[in-house]
Amino acid sequence: MNSLKRIYGLIGYPVKHSLSAAMHNAAFKELKIRGEIDYDAEYKLFEVKPENLDNFLNSLEEKNIYGLNVTIPHKEKVFNFVEFDENSSYLEQVKAINTIVKKENVWMGYNTDIPGFSRHLKENIDPLNKKVAILGAGGAGRAVSYAVSHLKAKEISIYDTDKNKVKNIIEMIKKIFGDFNIKSADSVEQLNILDKDILINATPVGMKDADVCLVSEKMLHKDLFVYDLIYNPKETKLLALAKKVGAKSSNGLKMLLYQGMLSFEIWAGKKAPKEVMWQALSSQISTK
Ligand code: NAP
Repeated sequence: MNSLKRIYGLIGYPVKHSLSAAMHNAAFKELKIRGEIDYDAEYKLFEVKPENLDNFLNSLEEKNIYGLNVTIPHKEKVFNFVEFDENSSYLEQVKAINTIVKKENVWMGYNTDIPGFSRHLKENIDPLNKKVAILGAGGAGRAVSYAVSHLKAKEISIYDTDKNKVKNIIEMIKKIFGDFNIKSADSVEQLNILDKDILINATPVGMKDADVCLVSEKMLHKDLFVYDLIYNPKETKLLALAKKVGAKSSNGLKMLLYQGMLSFEIWAGKKAPKEVMWQALSSQISTK
């Protein structure tokens, strides 16, 4: 048994507001109490400036780091640092990873946002043959676009202020899924949400009190399902508007749980303790 504490964590810049430490530390503690692991482990937040990333990645062994979550702005660089196993080779096209682990001396990359999001979306609505509108074409937008295409949605319309990012997603989806019906919208209005079954917000707009709502009431309808990836605040202006028009909706807290459970299982090789992780997350949100 290695007596040194195993270190896991999140690298990003900034990372101060992450809820992941509470969730993963609760999970490691629970498995130690149950006797399912025989080592101590701690999940830490690593705020690493872009100019210090190379040094950080070269010092993982000396820091006793066994696995990491990766967030903005390091996803791209870390993507080039890892290899993919045969079940994750699609990530070479998706180019979005959020979890790394060392296996037989090689750092391997995974994306647990995709299955985490897919699981929670399907608990609410099966996207099979549904028309989907997506706001945001960053890392989360790429993951969500891949997920709903893989789950055989009928069509996707996607809007982002950065047209290039949308173009890249469309290229990625066509490369992986062939002639999939995915198109770019030049504005939120052009998403034509009234004609859609599912609306997904994958932008950070809604996290701050001062943020506007990207859609107006007249764009929504009661048969729409609205999924906002934001989990803090629990109810964004978008979710409040969805409620007002009678549409079903969800925030992203369960997605955070499910992606966290999958990352934990990749690192620990054990089943993640769902309830313990959910309690840790929920208590963080309610005290904020
Ligand atoms: P990101 O890479 O920064 O992407 C966000 C995208 O939204 C960017 O392309 C940005 O464009 C675009 N955008 C910003 N303001 C916009 C606006 N007014 N209209 C249209 N597009 C706009 O961030 P991310 O990693 O994808 O994360 C997005 C959100 O998802 C965050 O709130 C994050 O917390 C959340 N998230 C949640 C989970 C979960 O587990 N629930 C997982 C992953 C992400 P510019 O670059 O031009 O600003």
